[in-house]
Amino acid sequence: MADHRLFIEPKLIIASHNQGKVREIDELIRPYNIEVISAGALGLDEPEETGTTFIANAELKARAAAKAANLPALADDSGLVVPALNGDPGIFSARWARPEKDFDMAMGLVENGLRDSDDRAAYFVAALALCWPDGHCEIFEGRVNGELVWPPRGELGFGYDPMFVPEGGNHTFGEMNPNAKHAISHRADAFAQLTRACFARQ
Ligand code: IMP
Repeated sequence: MADHRLFIEPKLIIASHNQGKVREIDELIRPYNIEVISAGALGLDEPEETGTTFIANAELKARAAAKAANLPALADDSGLVVPALNGDPGIFSARWARPEKDFDMAMGLVENGLRDSDDRAAYFVAALALCWPDGHCEIFEGRVNGELVWPPRGELGFGYDPMFVPEGGNHTFGEMNPNAKHAISHRADAFAQLTRACFARQ
């Protein structure tokens, strides 16, 4: 296995202002006895996502938070990739929902784009960056394949969950309870890679 830096500090910043993500990362990290502080609670600014990949954006968010707080920071950059839409909304997934965070509207844009297509394949990607104040970062990327359904179904989860059915399933992420989603999600996949590489076993 490649050399990874072990995370041994007691505190970790979650460098996200997205409540849905902070909640999921909090749930995934709970078994590791780490004190988690959200960037929002520390009043840290959200840097502009100027990267052109999920990994670049995760890294710039984690780096900025680690430097500002002088503590290790974990950031997630994620999104829905639709091959029939040339990869959109992709790294623009949050931006498609506008500042109002209107995901009914964003899901409608995806559905409209697919009007003339039989190809309803899609996947979620999550890049996780764990960065230390000295600038060292560990990066992991997870993915879950699935297909898009219409109309959206389910009130659980967040973002595009209600229109995404993971491969081999019948329910949308919006209809699945958190544990069922964490068993297969892109974020859980990236998180499992991170914990295997950087977290000491309890
Ligand atoms: P960003 O990583 O903050 O740029 O935003 C990622 C966006 O991708 C979120 O606001 C959601 O719209 C979407 N997204 C990422 N992960 C998920 C997920 O697990 N379910 C549904 N939507 C997601």
